[in-house]
Formats: sequence, structure tokens, C-alpha cells
Amino acid sequence: MNLSNLNFFRSLRHENRQFAVIGLGRFGRAVCGTLHQLGYEVLGIDADEKRVDQLLIDKIVSHAMQLDSTEPTALKEAGIFEFDTAIVAIGNYLDASVITTLNLKEAGVKHVVAKASSEVHVKLLKKVGADYVVFPEHDAGCNLARSLTKPSILDRFELDPENSIVELIVPEEFQGKTISELQLRNRYGLNLLAVSYDGKFQINPDPNNRFQKGSAMVVIGTNKNIDRLPI
Ligand code: ATP
Repeated sequence: MNLSNLNFFRSLRHENRQFAVIGLGRFGRAVCGTLHQLGYEVLGIDADEKRVDQLLIDKIVSHAMQLDSTEPTALKEAGIFEFDTAIVAIGNYLDASVITTLNLKEAGVKHVVAKASSEVHVKLLKKVGADYVVFPEHDAGCNLARSLTKPSILDRFELDPENSIVELIVPEEFQGKTISELQLRNRYGLNLLAVSYDGKFQINPDPNNRFQKGSAMVVIGTNKNIDRLPI
């Protein structure tokens, strides 16, 4: 997680149960559906009446509205400015995405999340005040490249650009050795957080336990040190 996003997530109010999602493409529908399933109230918005109707037919949300979000008066009349959090899920219409984000921030919506579809789009959204910008195609591409080049790494949580927590398949070289024998801290500068045994993770594992074939392990450290692992 980029540390600059920390403040955004810290400021999200836990008691907030309402979200407005503007733009009902695949991304917007996925956000709506998941929030709805999690028990939150979601208002779905799109300029395209068919997309609004489809959202209601599919029972993805309980409330949906057709409006042009580049029109501040339309947003105001629909009560969008009263929402604590709005998600602008308009990727392919750069002007509509930027204007909508600007409208929401100018009207004082506290948390505005916006979806970008290019590097320039990311910059523009930040300039007009988006509190959190996501660029899913970019992130998915980076993740795919990492998985293809390092298939042993099952999952990676980036703490900042230099440090990560990674889950990986126990390297062959480690199998049969005990945790204390391996001296991960001395040899690799990594801290071991967990090891899986029979499909279940053991947190702070016993140093006398042996790494087994087919197990997974979770380590924390710098990316440079993680890259030194024999994987
Ligand atoms: P996907 O999520 O399908 O990958 P996307 O996030 O890039 O695509 P877009 O194709 O940009 O999504 O479209 C998102 C939705 O935003 C469309 O349904 C479109 O009708 C809607 N939209 C575009 N402009 C406006 C606007 N001014 N007001 C409201 N909705 C809009």
C-alpha cells in the first residue's frame, strides 16, 4: 500500500453505510454488487438508461438513477453531494470522469475514489482533488508480469515501494530444514511471519519445525532481500 493512501483509508468512517457509484461499466457494476452483498446501501448512477435498468433487473443494487454526472445540478438534485463516499467508475470517457470528480470535490463530498485508464488520467484525477485513484488495468498487468516471472510468489502486499510482505511456495533448497537452521534473518535479512502445515498457516512458527514440500511461507522484508531468495 502506498503510504500516501493511508490517510484516505484512515479517514473513511466505519459507520458510513452509503456509497454512490457513478458509471456502471464492468468495474462499476462489480463495486456496486460487492458493496450491496456486504450489506451497504448503494446508489448506482449512469447516463445510459439501459445500464441503470439492467442493474435493477439483475438486483445488483436496490437504488439506481439515470443522470449526467457532468451536470452539477443533476448531482445535487439526486442528493449525491450528501454521500460520504462516491466512486467515479468512468474509465473511457476522460472528460466526463474528470468533470464528475471535480463536481463532487467542489461540492464537498469527503471521499472521492476515481478509476483511471492511463497515467495522464491518474494525474488529472489527482489534480482535480480525487482522494484515491485506482488504475486496475495497470495494477493487473504488473501483477501478471510478476506472477509469470516469479511463479513461486503466490501473493504480495506492497507496504511501500521498497518493502513487501510476500507469500511464497517454500523453495526446494529450504525443504527438510528447520526454521532455525535456515537463519532467514541473518542470511537474507527477512523475517518469517508464517508457514503453512497441512493447508493451515501457523503464525510465528516454532523454530524447530521443518519446512515441508508443498508448504507456503510468508516473509516480510525489503524487495531487494526478497529477490535474493532461491526461488
Ligand atoms: P469497464 O468497467 O466496463 O471496463 P470502464 O470503467 O472503462 O469500463 P466506461 O466504458 O468508461 O467504463 O463506462 C462507464 C460507464 O460510465 C458507462 O456505462 C457510461 O454510460 C457511463 N458514463 C459515461 N459518461 C457519463 C456521465 N457523464 N454521466 C454518467 N455516466 C456516464
